[in-house]
Amino acid sequence: MSEPRSTPEPTPCIVTVAITGSLPRKKDNPAVPITVAEQIESTHEAFEAGATLVHCHVRNEDETPTSDPEKFARLLEGIREHCPGMIVQFSTGGRSGVGRERGGMLPLRPDMASLSTGSCNFPTRVYENSPELIDWLAAEMKRYGVKPEIEVFDLSMLFKAVEMQKEGKIDGPLHVQFVMGVKNAMPVDREVFEFYIRTLRRLAPDATWTGAGIGKDQITLNRWSLELGGHCRTGLEDNVRLDRHTLAPSNAALVRRVVELCAEYGRRPATVAEARALLRLPPWPSAPAPG
Ligand code: ZN
Repeated sequence: MSEPRSTPEPTPCIVTVAITGSLPRKKDNPAVPITVAEQIESTHEAFEAGATLVHCHVRNEDETPTSDPEKFARLLEGIREHCPGMIVQFSTGGRSGVGRERGGMLPLRPDMASLSTGSCNFPTRVYENSPELIDWLAAEMKRYGVKPEIEVFDLSMLFKAVEMQKEGKIDGPLHVQFVMGVKNAMPVDREVFEFYIRTLRRLAPDATWTGAGIGKDQITLNRWSLELGGHCRTGLEDNVRLDRHTLAPSNAALVRRVVELCAEYGRRPATVAEARALLRLPPWPSAPAPG
């Protein structure tokens, strides 16, 4: 008989909210925040509902995506003021610019930025990330102390990130997001998802990970991630509905859906201090210490 062991508390779940995205205006849901003021308000509601990480794109007045550093600066300032300690992640992807324009806001030193480590097809275009651009974005993130979130749309992107960490181009531990359900990229597939996670554990045992599902499968990936010990992403960038018949009234409503789901899997949402500690980010000066 072995000694009875106390079961450690399951890892709290970092809830990411992707508030806006870069697709043409989602006429099917007017709740998608577009202006910086709307984005700050929507982020604040999501923060109050339990989100601790916000993934951001910015838009022009005509709602087209942009990588304008001035807009990113105002958004960062607003979120830091209204959501103390929330982890701010800027997108370097989407349709926000061409080539190095996509990283023009990294000198603002957000906590994190997304980094896709390969190319794939998206619904109507090629999502192009050349080796040269990936190296440049990673170098800029390192220079400004921005932690990358590795966006994995395909298995090769995971291997590439591990290779970049070994070469010193990315500082570890890695944080990886597995994205499923983008049309023409990797579909939502449980066996592949489990293989992703096994492979990540094998290649980068200290890495953290999040699952992101698009459209109706947002909730599927939320469930799988909670079950398998990962973190969750939700938000109107990826999905505008609560169910087939109901539009999500806000980003906060989608956050609440994940927060409620946590208990079903014996998990709970992470606090700001816990989320920062889990991702090895510096503690927020005014946030209480974890534990
Ligand atoms: Zn995005």
